[in-house]
Amino acid sequence: MTSNRVALITGASRGIGKAITLALAEGGLDVVINFARQRDAAAQVQAEASRLGVKAGLLQADISQIADHGRVFEFLKEKFGRLDVLINNAGVAPKVREDMLNASEESFDRLMNTNLRGPYFLTQRLARWMVELRQQVANYSPVIVNISSISAYTSSPNRADYCLTKAGVAMMTQLYAHRLAEFEIPVFEIRPGIIETDMTAGVKEKYDRLIAEGLTPIPRWGKPEDVGKAAAAIVQGCFPYSTGEVFNVDGGFHLRRL
Ligand code: NAP
Repeated sequence: MTSNRVALITGASRGIGKAITLALAEGGLDVVINFARQRDAAAQVQAEASRLGVKAGLLQADISQIADHGRVFEFLKEKFGRLDVLINNAGVAPKVREDMLNASEESFDRLMNTNLRGPYFLTQRLARWMVELRQQVANYSPVIVNISSISAYTSSPNRADYCLTKAGVAMMTQLYAHRLAEFEIPVFEIRPGIIETDMTAGVKEKYDRLIAEGLTPIPRWGKPEDVGKAAAAIVQGCFPYSTGEVFNVDGGFHLRRL
């Protein structure tokens, strides 16, 4: 068993997951970089993390497939022997933004499976192990962080399926926070706003305009590193008597304004 704390970050090959991985590696955690398809990008993240002096593992697994979760568990157990931090970050947007009066069941199922059902059951499996590890590992301070979105509470009828999954992740955070509190495993939600990644590349001009018009009180796009820093602060243990808390990383988007 490694003596470092170990973090699994799902969807860590790019974007927000990559930034979280590097922020945690900078803080001295060993990291497990999960990805679905883009092995080369994930391998680059692995190389960057290794240069920070920590152990970095590379793990292909499709989080939407419950059948892949056993492999995630075995990999962590065999290569690291422990899990301290689970970051449920992997997620997808609809392939096309389509009015909810027409949007397909196929898109709904794809998003639900990847953004909610997969993370829900992955957390179930790994949280059970964390409960066992609490009895076995000295100075164990586990934490689970779910990456939701401002879409958890913001209605966008042209991607209703996405909004529903993120609202589900918000409730999933509360449920696991409640259930795992007796084991001192806190569960937090980070709610990113409009962050510059591959996911938002197709709508860049639209959001450039909206941000210029005042959509976010802090007048700029969010960067993946903004989310990485928030995750690192949570993982460091700066909030020892909190669980189920929501961290808005959105340039103030959530503020009601008049
Ligand atoms: P991104 O740039 O599209 O990256 C998505 C990551 O998730 C990639 O590493 C991808 O792996 C991985 N992934 C996708 N499906 C997967 C699956 N089934 N199993 C395992 N990994 C999978 O997205 P992002 O913008 O960084 O978003 C990360 C998270 O933040 C998502 O949950 C997203 O909903 C949320 N979020 C994003 C924004 C934003 O503005 N960008 C705002 C709010 C919330 P591959 O590289 O192998 O495909």
